[in-house]
Amino acid sequence: MAANHATSIVWLRRDLRLSDNVALERAARASERVVCAFVLDPVLLRSDRVGAPIVCCFFDALASLRDALRERGSDLALLEGDFETELRGLAKRAGATALFYNVDYEPDAIARDERVTAGLRADDVVVEASVDHVYFGATDVLKPDGSPYTVFTPYKRRWLERCEREPRPATDSLGAIRRRLATADTIGETLAVPKPEDYGHERSPKFPKGGETLAHDTLATFLEERGGAYAADRNEPAKPGTSHLSPQLRAGTIGIRTCVAAVVDARRGARGTRATGFDTWLSELIWRDFYQQILANVPRVADGPFDERARALDYRTSRDDFEAWCAGRTGYPIVDAAMVQLNTFGWMHNRLRMIVASFLTKDLLLDYRLGEAYFEQHLADADKAANNGGWQWSSSTGTDAAPYFRVFNPVLQSEKFDPDGAFIRSMLPALERLPARAVHAPWILAPLEAEALGFRLGRDYPEPIVDHAEARVRALAAYAPVLGKAARPREAARSDAP
Ligand SMILES: Cc1cc2nc3c(=O)[nH]c(=O)nc-3n(C[C@H](O)[C@H](O)[C@H](O)COP(=O)(O)OP(=O)(O)OC[C@H]3O[C@@H](n4cnc5c(N)ncnc54)[C@H](O)[C@@H]3O)c2cc1C
Repeated sequence: MAANHATSIVWLRRDLRLSDNVALERAARASERVVCAFVLDPVLLRSDRVGAPIVCCFFDALASLRDALRERGSDLALLEGDFETELRGLAKRAGATALFYNVDYEPDAIARDERVTAGLRADDVVVEASVDHVYFGATDVLKPDGSPYTVFTPYKRRWLERCEREPRPATDSLGAIRRRLATADTIGETLAVPKPEDYGHERSPKFPKGGETLAHDTLATFLEERGGAYAADRNEPAKPGTSHLSPQLRAGTIGIRTCVAAVVDARRGARGTRATGFDTWLSELIWRDFYQQILANVPRVADGPFDERARALDYRTSRDDFEAWCAGRTGYPIVDAAMVQLNTFGWMHNRLRMIVASFLTKDLLLDYRLGEAYFEQHLADADKAANNGGWQWSSSTGTDAAPYFRVFNPVLQSEKFDPDGAFIRSMLPALERLPARAVHAPWILAPLEAEALGFRLGRDYPEPIVDHAEARVRALAAYAPVLGKAARPREAARSDAP
């Protein structure tokens, strides 16, 4: 097929990879030469909307992408500044007549892309957007009446039917770019991959790394060694039961079609609990698509509750309680250990995300948006759709959310999912020597026993900042008048926890 364009740009954003990349594949099929570009936004990078873990992960991914391009005789056009100005400038310098990109459903990203598209079109540059970061796009899986699903279970059923009928194989972008990548001289001047410190972010070797090879290895190892046991192990934070792929999926160092194809393949021939393990993991990938389509179809969730009755919730405004939650000083070991995991590793286990979110919004009765923003600043996988979906699920304000009267008991959750306290001990050395029954609730230790262990509540570890039983009553009193009224119309029963 004759190429339509001598030179095209692929504007990479949350798709930092060469394999299974729809925009890259389309650009390569339509052009003689393809320039891969990334634009650093100094305002965003210096703002409190991003934190060190995600910046470090993205910069790693950019460095590995550049290596992969250089190995192929090309380079990454790394620019910094205003998106429109930079991309119009690059198009002129490289003589590009087209720009390809993969869509992002975040409202800010949509506004940015519209602006950039208008600017490039004014220069007669053709702009083409593709769906890439989700398996099915926001309008691919809709209810029979054409409206979006807001309950997960029927969405998943429809998603699986469509996947069976029309599976989306991994895109062969690697094949398509062969002999199509622009040489370094077409690309011209390009920046070095910056250091996180350049934008005020401190690096830590404990943060998740990013990169395409690493992402593929992570997926393969997970499916081979742990995927079959996922259903059983996914809720215990002390076990390496989950894939840890979320930072990679966020930076797009691996394609979602690659992940789905790999788990469907692993599932083939698996039986019993192994089969359930793979099915459950696929379900989590569907939750990811579900929240993406919610953000795309109901963008107001980015700023406020999906359930509009929840606007009337009278949250408390205690800075001290919020700070204690952020710092892991609530006096509830499972909550504090989880926050230490987040603050240290830039990642938190899913079960713990649900526990700390319930604690913030129910036990402390603070606005879910505070927790959502804190997660956004501290997670390497911070993603508007999944984060907002998770917070609104936990605070009972979202689509298909936990009912308002479901208030996680942090001690029972701890006993159930970290039975011998291994996870708590690994994050909170002050509790290392406590016996299993007390590691979940140190205040139950008798003074003599505590003394024998060299442990003093209030000195070595904080006393609980709230009494859970009382806090639960307070939460129900606040939530019931607002969310306990006539239920919203639903298309099916509630789904299981994500
Ligand atoms: C309050 C709260 C906030 C969250 N914030 C984010 C966030 O900012 N970014 C993010 O990627 N996930 C978020 N999640 C979802 C989930 O906790 C993480 O995706 C998961 O812990 C990542 O670990 P993993 O890669 O080992 O997951 P695995 O269990 O191996 O799951 C595989 C992949 O499926 C996707 N996934 C899994 N669970 C969910 C879910 N509930 N919703 C959407 N996608 C899911 C992720 O991409 C994940 O990498 C949040 C959950 C809650 C309760």
